[in-house]
Amino acid sequence: MMRSIFDSTQALILIVDDMPTNLEVVSVALNDAGYDVSIATSGERALLQIERRCPDLILLDVMMPGMDGFETCIQLKANSRTAEIPVIFMTALADVDHKMKGFEVGGVDYITKPFQEKEVLARIKTHLRLKHTEDRLERILNSLEEVVWSITLDPLRCLYLNPAVEKIFGRSADDFLQCPDLWFELIHPDDREWVKTAFRGSEQNHDIELEYRILNIDGNVRWLKVRAQANSYDTTQYRLDGILYDITDRKEVETQLLHTAQHDSLTGLQNRRLFIENVNKLLKQAQLKEDLQFAVLFIDLDRFKNINDSLGHHYGDKLLTEIAKALKDIVRPTETIARIGGDEFTILLANIHHPNDAIQVAQRIEAKLKVPMDLGGHAITTTASIGIAMGSARYKNADELLRDADIAMYQAKRQGKAQYQLFESEMHAKVLHQISLEQDLALALEREEFLLHYQPILDLESEKLLGFEALVRWHQPERGLVSPAEFIPLAEESGLIELLGEQILRQACQQMNRWQTEYRGISNLTMSVNISSRQLHSPNFLNMLDAVLSETGMSGQALKLEITESLLLGDDPELLEIFYALQKREIQLSLDDFGTGYSSLSYLHRFPINTLKIDRSFINRMESDPQSYAIVKTMTTLAETLDMDVVAEGVETSSQVVLLKALQCNSVQGYFFSKPLPAVQATEMLATLPQRESAVLGLS
Ligand code: C2E
Ligand code: MG
Ligand code: MG
Repeated sequence: MMRSIFDSTQALILIVDDMPTNLEVVSVALNDAGYDVSIATSGERALLQIERRCPDLILLDVMMPGMDGFETCIQLKANSRTAEIPVIFMTALADVDHKMKGFEVGGVDYITKPFQEKEVLARIKTHLRLKHTEDRLERILNSLEEVVWSITLDPLRCLYLNPAVEKIFGRSADDFLQCPDLWFELIHPDDREWVKTAFRGSEQNHDIELEYRILNIDGNVRWLKVRAQANSYDTTQYRLDGILYDITDRKEVETQLLHTAQHDSLTGLQNRRLFIENVNKLLKQAQLKEDLQFAVLFIDLDRFKNINDSLGHHYGDKLLTEIAKALKDIVRPTETIARIGGDEFTILLANIHHPNDAIQVAQRIEAKLKVPMDLGGHAITTTASIGIAMGSARYKNADELLRDADIAMYQAKRQGKAQYQLFESEMHAKVLHQISLEQDLALALEREEFLLHYQPILDLESEKLLGFEALVRWHQPERGLVSPAEFIPLAEESGLIELLGEQILRQACQQMNRWQTEYRGISNLTMSVNISSRQLHSPNFLNMLDAVLSETGMSGQALKLEITESLLLGDDPELLEIFYALQKREIQLSLDDFGTGYSSLSYLHRFPINTLKIDRSFINRMESDPQSYAIVKTMTTLAETLDMDVVAEGVETSSQVVLLKALQCNSVQGYFFSKPLPAVQATEMLATLPQRESAVLGLS
């Protein structure tokens, strides 16, 4: 128990001496100095008295009858209640051995008789102060939340631990003092070795600071922050003194913040940053382990915008969440999945044996997305375009690998979506070129830089003009006229063909209508317009067609649509419906580039086709190559059997004309008769025709 003592005031001093005169002298001096004093005339009495009231300091005579001063001190120190009371010996014996014994049994000081009063008071004051300071220090240590500790490492011993240790570890300071191994045993197995190494490596007078995990008594993980310093202890080793405290709460907040910073809040998947970090880690490994195979899949949903626009963002978000789940189902839990953009996901397949493994994952994703997902009332299926890039040490960083997967994805999109593509090195330049061309095309559409040339189609026998084929040209300000072969395929891949096709159809119909109002006798002429498969498959196609017809005043009879063979493959009932809808509008259908697609002719009769256009390549070779000749012959016969017209494309020479006449091919188109003409020249040509019902083209 501590009283408010400082300097002399209020402290209780017990004087133990068998000589009444000594007691008298000392107690008077102490009383005068303001101390409370109690006295005992023997060791035994002193112990009894202390039982009743604990002094702050004891002045203890050494030589007494019965229990001497040393023995009394030993007893005091053995009792935890009295062990801490400072004892000052008083004796007439001044030899060193004697004094040393006094210190050994626990005394703090010595006063030799006869006393010097001032000396006695000074020593008492010093030791009261010292004791007071110690007590205060102890109270501070006991009240600390932090653990204050001191250990030696060889051998491992706990020298000091304050009681806070119990709150953090669930073990008392005594547990550690008795079993020092606990100090390391309680460290989390994943941290134990490096912490040991760090402790052992600490250099004298250098602070070390560590954060590591322990397992407390309930088996829970707690995070500790430890600061320590190595101080000299004895000749063979030093001592580590330090404090440690629980930083579990801080760590949890940090972990949460880190998680938020590295994950997508909607799906809980990793975000781009963390994904890139993970790929970079793997690339580092690949530098050391050359045969490491891994892949990045870049997944972009097809038409996600449609879902967002038609059902709203709520369902869009739901769909993304469902897709995240689906992806988790598909790959092993150890693989990394991220959402790196609105509808863009990436997967890192960290350890595969072959590109096929990545392809299989892509296939499983495609298959899974086809299964309807229930978004609370809306069952939705979707598709994705997937790019795959195989990782290897030649990639300098994750961004490059991701870029290549992205390029492969782009390629998959261009090729009609709902598919995967494996990245190949040539794709890079190609895609860059495509992207810039595509941007140019979009701009050209806005600026209406596309115009049509018209190539006459003639009756072979009479050379009467039957109509024109409209062929698009891109009038590019810098390059002049660009051929459709250069941009139509890209327009088809990118989807721009839908807008472009509409512009072309409108121009062709306007032109035809203008001619028909201007020139009499050409009402039988037809305008052939090429239609790509993508246009025909657009859900809006018929509406667009009707709108253009009514807007331009063009009649269905005067219009022919040229489609290609590949369109007819596969059983597409919707396509047949469109064909019948065209038939109802009296619009005719030509099968373009006939013979270049698929050899099976069995499908032809199933479709309402009016005209077969024999591909230029056969006409070209029919003179030199008997097989081509035979094919042209078969085609004309076939057309006749199926009651279709036949047009020979690309007729360039008079000998071709002779052969075609012999084969009774009814109509022709080609440079021999006329190149595709700009509108002005085509108009001039019409103007020269005799103004009667069936016009004959005046060829010189
Ligand atoms: P296509 O529909 O088979 O058009 C015939 C192509 O053969 C045209 O090439 C024409 O200029 C060319 N040609 C005609 N007679 C001869 C000849 O005697 N000798 C040679 N060497 N060539 C001849 P063009 O205009 O370059 O068009 C190429 C292709 O681009 C077209 O083949 C068509 O598939 C496509 N295309 C052209 N315009 C359009 C369009 O407006 N829409 C769509 N979707 N595709 C179009
Ligand atoms: Mg054509
Ligand atoms: Mg053709």
